[in-house]
Amino acid sequence: MYPRLVIDMKKLKGNLDAVAHITKDKGGCDSMMIVTKCLCADPMVSRLIAEHPMVDFMADSRTKNIASFTDLAHEYLKQTVLLRIPMPCEVEDVVKYVDLSFNSEISTIRLLNEAAAKAGKVHKILLMIDMGDLREGIFFQNEDTIMETVQEILGMENIELYGVGVNLTCYGAIIPKEDNLGGLVKIARKIEEKFGIKLKMVSGGNSSSIYLADKEQLPEGITNLRLGESFLLGNDTAYLTKLPGTVDDALILEAQIVELKEKPSLPIGDVGVDAFGEKPEYEDRGIIKRAIIAVGKQDTDLGGMIPLDEKVDILGGSSDHTILDVTKSDKEYKVGDVVSFKLEYGAMLKLATSPYVTKEYI
Ligand SMILES: *Cc1c(COP(=O)(O)O)cnc(C)c1O
Repeated sequence: MYPRLVIDMKKLKGNLDAVAHITKDKGGCDSMMIVTKCLCADPMVSRLIAEHPMVDFMADSRTKNIASFTDLAHEYLKQTVLLRIPMPCEVEDVVKYVDLSFNSEISTIRLLNEAAAKAGKVHKILLMIDMGDLREGIFFQNEDTIMETVQEILGMENIELYGVGVNLTCYGAIIPKEDNLGGLVKIARKIEEKFGIKLKMVSGGNSSSIYLADKEQLPEGITNLRLGESFLLGNDTAYLTKLPGTVDDALILEAQIVELKEKPSLPIGDVGVDAFGEKPEYEDRGIIKRAIIAVGKQDTDLGGMIPLDEKVDILGGSSDHTILDVTKSDKEYKVGDVVSFKLEYGAMLKLATSPYVTKEYI
């Protein structure tokens, strides 16, 4: 059945080998987290990750996704990680399914401590420091707040402060560099000196930090990276370069043509707004061969689809339809043919989330 997301397990394994080599051998990290949220913790891909000897942590932003692989992860001696700051309403589930959660709010950490006490467990946390990207974390300039928070955490019986971490290039698009990652390491060392403890992890970011590891320039003291997109699509997300040893076509969308007709490229009549309330713009290409494929904005992000046939253009679409210009293609498309696309991050995430898209593993 189409539309379908074709997942090439051999290629994904190759990408995993490549990012592990970059992170650990070139970057000098002592651990690597692989992030499962981009494919909604797909069970087959989760198994591939769990079985890989160089993966130490399996991470996701949603507790529900983590619950689906907690047993699998533990079977392979991997720890589970919650990347999004926990909701106060979910602390019981976090303590139950997650080994290490990322935190920035002392009130929530107190709730985790209570929940862990009730469950008879010690829950590990990573304290997030905001080094300027302005998503999650205690702001790096508020050093007093950082130290007070650490002090209170160290007094909690059922919480272990496992380390500190930073997230970059998500909201503010700030690029990881020596100054912001080095700054995080300095904060880690200050915490260790002030409280006479040793932090087990200084987590230096996501797929936007891997370019530094590849150049062997990851600041000394960063011990971990968390990788989703670079593993799935093979790129560093700071400069969008292709990482050595990876491929960008491990995930392919296939959709079927349901209509193919020659029509003008300009609509006829007064222009109002489209199905999404936007005023479209058209380019006059004369009479063209227009193919409609059965996939739309409800399933994916049309701007993040890259046709494998380079002579096919995406003209636009609506909830359930995507319209292609196949005029210049060398292939004589017909109704029933399948058109294939490489994917960008947003398009892939939506496809993995859509219940209308089937998955095929090769
Ligand atoms: C999503 C996420 C990651 C993984 O990001 P990629 O760019 O896909 O590697 C890492 N850390 C946090 C906190 C995240 O939310």
